[in-house]
Formats: sequence, C-alpha cells, structure tokens
Amino acid sequence: KTYAASEDRYEKMEYRRAGASGLDLPAFSFGLWQKFGTDYPCETQREIVLHAFDLGITHFDNADRYGPPHRAAQKFFGEVLAKDLAPHRDELILSTKAGNPIGPGPYQKGGSRKSLLSSLEHSLRDLGTDHVDIFYSHSPDESTPLEETVGALVSAVQQGKALYVALSNYQPERAHRAAELLREAGVPLLVHQPRYSIFDRTPENNGLLDLAADDGFGLVVYSPLAQGLLTDKYLTGVPSGARAENSAFLSPDVIDETYRERATALNELAQERGQSLAQLALQWVLRRPEVTSALIGASSVWQLDHNVQALEFPPLTDEELAVVEKHGIH
Ligand code: NDP
Repeated sequence: KTYAASEDRYEKMEYRRAGASGLDLPAFSFGLWQKFGTDYPCETQREIVLHAFDLGITHFDNADRYGPPHRAAQKFFGEVLAKDLAPHRDELILSTKAGNPIGPGPYQKGGSRKSLLSSLEHSLRDLGTDHVDIFYSHSPDESTPLEETVGALVSAVQQGKALYVALSNYQPERAHRAAELLREAGVPLLVHQPRYSIFDRTPENNGLLDLAADDGFGLVVYSPLAQGLLTDKYLTGVPSGARAENSAFLSPDVIDETYRERATALNELAQERGQSLAQLALQWVLRRPEVTSALIGASSVWQLDHNVQALEFPPLTDEELAVVEKHGIH
C-alpha cells in the first residue's frame, strides 16, 4: 500500500530545542534497538515507523549494531526510506552510532578513526542516504585518545556525511572534555544520549544534567520506560511476547517482589492522575528542561499512540514528584 503522510502530523507533537543549537527535536524520538531486526514481522515494523512519522516524530535513532543481526535495523529503515519516506527526507532527523562491537575484527569496535568512519560509510549505504543528521560515538573508548575519536566526528561533518555530532554513554568528565575539543574544532556537541528514567537517575546524580546546561548540549534520554518495566505490563507476570520474555537485555529476574511493590505504587499514582504508568514515566523524564527528547521503542502502533499521549496531561505537582522520589530508584 502506498504511504501518504498524515496532513496534521506537526500539530500534536511538541518540539524542543537541543541545548544551545538551532535544532528542534520532537519530545519523543523513536529508537530501533529492539524488534527491528529480522526477528519481527517487517510489515509491523514498517507500520510502526510510518505511524511514528504521522505522529510528528521526526527523529529516528539507529546504530550499526541494531538488529539482530547487527546492521539489520538500518537496512530495514533504508527500505522504508526508499519506499515510503524518500519524499520526506528533509523532514527527518536520522541518527546513527558507531563504536560498540559489531564483529570480531579490530576495526569493528572502539573509538578509532578507522572504526568510526568505516562504520559510518557502511551505515550510509544501509540507510540509502548520503548523510545522517546526527552521528554518535556510541560509547567511550578509554584505549583510544579522545582527540582521535573527536577528530573522526569532526571529519564526518567536514565530509558532509553528518550534520551534527553526539556522544552516548560518556561519563560527565569525558563528555565535557569532548565538548571542549568539539567546540574548538567548530563542530559543537549537539546532544548526549544517556539512560534516564524513574528507575535510573544516574544523570542527576553524576552531574550530567547540570553539565548539559553549562556546556550547551541537549540530552536525548534512552530507555525512559526502563525497557517496559515502567508500564503496567509486568505487574502480574511476564506477558507473552514482551521484551522480558525474549530479550538478552532484560532478564525476567528483575521482576521480583521489590519491583512489584515499586511499580504498583507508581501505577497507583498514575491512576490517580487519570493516566497510565508509562505516560507518567515519560512525563517525568521530560519535566527537566535539559532533556530535549525521550527516546522510546515500541512493538506496536498502540504502544506508540498511548505513549505519545503523555504530552496531553498536566505537569506533575510537587506532591506527585515526592511520591516518585519515594518509589523510584536513586
Ligand atoms: P523504552 O524504555 O521506551 O522501552 C520500550 C519498550 O517497552 C517497547 O519496545 C515495548 O517493549 C515496551 N513498551 C513501550 N510502551 C509500552 C506500553 N505503553 N505498554 C507496555 N509496554 C510498552 O525504550 P528502549 O529501551 O526501547 O530504548 C529506546 C531507544 O533508545 C532504543 O531503540 C535505542 O534507539 C536507544 N537506546 C540507546 C542505547 C545507547 O547505548 N545509546 C541503549 C539502549 C537504547 P515490548 O512490547 O517488546 O515488551
């Protein structure tokens, strides 16, 4: 079936400025980490991606690693881009990342110039585009000089293969040094991508949120639903097909009595507000102005619709935030 983008796609989404840059990102960005490889029906995957665009989600987060197998998620996205989204390429922010292991070879991991730029070339071929909008160093690599990693990011921009550069999973100190080097090179750090949710408040505790404001970069936060733990789906067990049932990244062992107590209390708070736990958890990460975008995954169109509706509720009050303090994980 031919795709025609929804006419009102920009009316409901909120767009937020990424740090001190000129770029706005949608409050929700869509990530293709899980269930966008060859492990899930591609017609469902296509439907989800196109529905995201119809909801005003302009930003799609990918990486060389995403699959399974590695690179499959980008190949899939490349097909959707060619078939459906090509007329909208200039309305899209496509992100990719390099540096996490994607194979046994010495240039298939790490922050070397060779590893990052070879991966980017390959990603551009898979995505079927001549440039990505944001190119990330996926993780810090202590064994490579930071100057080399940063230099590769700068080259990507100078060669026209990326419009902006970004970091993920860097500790604040290394992120700050990278931001300084990038600023000196005239290619400012656009965003940093850490994990952040009610169940993982590291970016508050380690100073990354404060640093973002000081250094002028935005934050695109991943796993804001703690991979689904911050929804009501695991309150009474593990439903069939859910991530905790079949992913190497979310063990069902975390769904224990302590988890259930926390999630039940948070779920009650959400119900008092007339919303779901998922919607509460998403509003909670977006309450911080340093957070430009919450990066969500979804395995159905329903989840996507439901989660994006989080934007329709009033902000959390101080009393409600105190309840989150009590039942979240510090
Ligand atoms: P989330 O915490 O948003 O988890 C998303 C998953 O939760 C969905 O795939 C779905 O899984 C489940 N879910 C979502 N909404 C609902 C709902 N309303 N009710 C019930 N279940 C729901 O984010 P992810 O962990 O998927 O991460 C998002 C993106 O962040 C990734 O795709 C990737 O782009 C990026 N990321 C980056 C990392 C990095 O190192 N830079 C690391 C990890 C992620 P299911 O239905 O299958 O159970």
